[in-house]
Amino acid sequence: HMGPQKVDREVDSVCPFCGVGCLVTYQVRDPDPTGAVPARIISVKGREGPANEGRLCVKGRFGMDYIHSPDRITKPLIRKPGVAKDLSLIDGHTDWREVFREATWEEALTLATQPLNTLRQQHGPKSLAGFGSAKGSNEEAYLFQKLVRTGFGSNNVDHCTRLCHASSVAALLEGVGSGAVSNPVRDVEHSDLIIVIGSNPTANHPVAASWMKNAAQRGTRIVLADPRITDIGRHTWRNLQFKADTDVALLNAMLHVIVTENLCDEKFLRERADNVVELKAHVRDYTPEVMSAVCGIPADTIREVARAYASAKAAMILWGMGVSQHVHGTDNVRCLIALASITGQIGRPGTGLHPLRGQNNVQGASDAGLIPMMYPNYQRVTDQSAHDWFEKFWDTKLDDQPGYTVVEIMHKALAPESDPHKVRGMYIMGENPAMSDPDLNHARHALASLQHLVVQDIFLTETAWLADVVLPASAWPEKTGTVSNTDRTVQMGRQAVQPPGDAKPDLWIVQQIAQRMGLDWPYAGEHDGVAAVYEEMRQAMASAIGGIDWARLNAGSVTYPCVSADDPGQPIVFHDHFPTKDGRVWLVPAGLIPAAEQTDAEYPMVLITGRQLEHWHTGSMTRRATVLDALEPAATASMCSADLVRLGLQAGQQVRIASRRGEVQLQVRCDDGTPQGAVFMPFAYVEAAANELTNAALDPFGKIPEFKYCAVRVSALQPS
Ligand code: SF4
Repeated sequence: HMGPQKVDREVDSVCPFCGVGCLVTYQVRDPDPTGAVPARIISVKGREGPANEGRLCVKGRFGMDYIHSPDRITKPLIRKPGVAKDLSLIDGHTDWREVFREATWEEALTLATQPLNTLRQQHGPKSLAGFGSAKGSNEEAYLFQKLVRTGFGSNNVDHCTRLCHASSVAALLEGVGSGAVSNPVRDVEHSDLIIVIGSNPTANHPVAASWMKNAAQRGTRIVLADPRITDIGRHTWRNLQFKADTDVALLNAMLHVIVTENLCDEKFLRERADNVVELKAHVRDYTPEVMSAVCGIPADTIREVARAYASAKAAMILWGMGVSQHVHGTDNVRCLIALASITGQIGRPGTGLHPLRGQNNVQGASDAGLIPMMYPNYQRVTDQSAHDWFEKFWDTKLDDQPGYTVVEIMHKALAPESDPHKVRGMYIMGENPAMSDPDLNHARHALASLQHLVVQDIFLTETAWLADVVLPASAWPEKTGTVSNTDRTVQMGRQAVQPPGDAKPDLWIVQQIAQRMGLDWPYAGEHDGVAAVYEEMRQAMASAIGGIDWARLNAGSVTYPCVSADDPGQPIVFHDHFPTKDGRVWLVPAGLIPAAEQTDAEYPMVLITGRQLEHWHTGSMTRRATVLDALEPAATASMCSADLVRLGLQAGQQVRIASRRGEVQLQVRCDDGTPQGAVFMPFAYVEAAANELTNAALDPFGKIPEFKYCAVRVSALQPS
């Protein structure tokens, strides 16, 4: 698809994969004159954008032809009567015609919505739930949460933020009053030192990693703290390969050094921080010598790195899901907030806290209220004034109780009939919990047990196989809307080609469902009223995007907070105050909490799950992208050479990996960046789904599952 072909037109947009938010230009070939060959994106160029300056990674440059895959759903599908929701369908080998029949939109929308209305009438609003998507636009996220809150009648709405940075957001809201980043990635250019912790940026945020490497070339010292030493470790000053699950031990030891060696920024603490005495007292017990035995990093190295961070002119911390996806994920981030605060490494260029957001629009979808405890702009549903404001704004009665989160909704789907909050019907737009949730056996049973499931997607995902009605949606280049990247920059994506067959823009579909649930929404205009939806969202989020109107976004990217037309936007925040009630940061001491599941004689190794450069999340897009699939066609598990020798395995050999919840079979790959006693698996492959093994234990604050740690056994599948 990507060979040299005539380009008829170019369309400016944003990359649909990761949260870096690289700007792209699609090069489009118009339909041939007979109409037999529809318009196609034949190549993608990097465009000058604040996050990428023309750079793209392999996904952005070569991954876009998933939209032209013959697997696209092009008509609404209805489950045939009597076809059971058998989990074996999920392997994708069944012909879809045995399970579904094609339908008109009118029939499909009626059959999608009527059972939702019936369930709501018979069992109440909490019997329904919705998962929106961090892959869609801000406008889609906003309308989806509005549909659940005003149409379904509860706050049972969530999305994959629960699976990535929910604990980061919980700690950041508690500590600094804002869940977003303080400084953009490119600010590493102004840092003397950066700490990259729990992140593999070369694979997961490749263009962001390129700015880090450029900074290192100019003299910035990078500290990588991670149980796995990944590619960025070739560009670092120090690699802290700490034992998996011991983040708090390492970070508290660094805090101990800074406190006991009087390296704190006392002026900053006096003027801008609370709970300082308690934090300082708490970390006194965490000496590097004692914590070294826990985390495996020599005490001298802990001291050296702590001193370097505290004494740097400007130092920044960037982190990924290695920090957040633990039962102590919120505590991990509390420690990072404490580190930045006690050293005054925040509020200036080259400093601050940056949770690297995963999905292209997970920041925007969270901002737009696609979370069960908050309305748009992080207004708590339990806050009476926020509740009253939104009741008036949307002219309807609203539930004032937080809804259930992603994993809780799966539990509630399997609750006994007698449970008044049993979830019986769901609408899932652009998410794939049958691959992305922990303990997939449980999650898939939960989805299959629903009385009614509506799935809106571009492919028959693993989740869609369990649906009653499947609504064919649009891929990102087939619609217009805005997204917000990891830097808080709002950017415009534009339609380049038409959706295939009868597939429709998601914004249109959500409005059709809303109409059939009795809602009378007024959005009119081009692209299903997207600008009108944005304008309403702008009113609901005035303190963030109030100064960014649609015309301004059409002209270029803007970073919020931006509160008026002449406000240029604020890439760096917290200069002189934090957006907390008293303007000060709240420091929270963290203790050592072990992973929910420990290794033992039966399951002696630790499983760490994550992503790889070529594949995106559950693989539904990238495994259908020709170049990316050719580069990484099959599931592999990575182990270090010492473990391979110890277990009598050879690279390339098929192995069985089993946990208490399931087992998978796949090839083993040698990677000496993976620590001894651990195995790393990407979660993109249905034929060896890593999440069949993972543990659904939750962080109590962020309700995020522990994807980064569970106990497994690895054994040879056949003699080598
Ligand atoms: Fe797309 Fe992220 Fe790659 Fe940029 S770094 S091209 S946003 S996947």
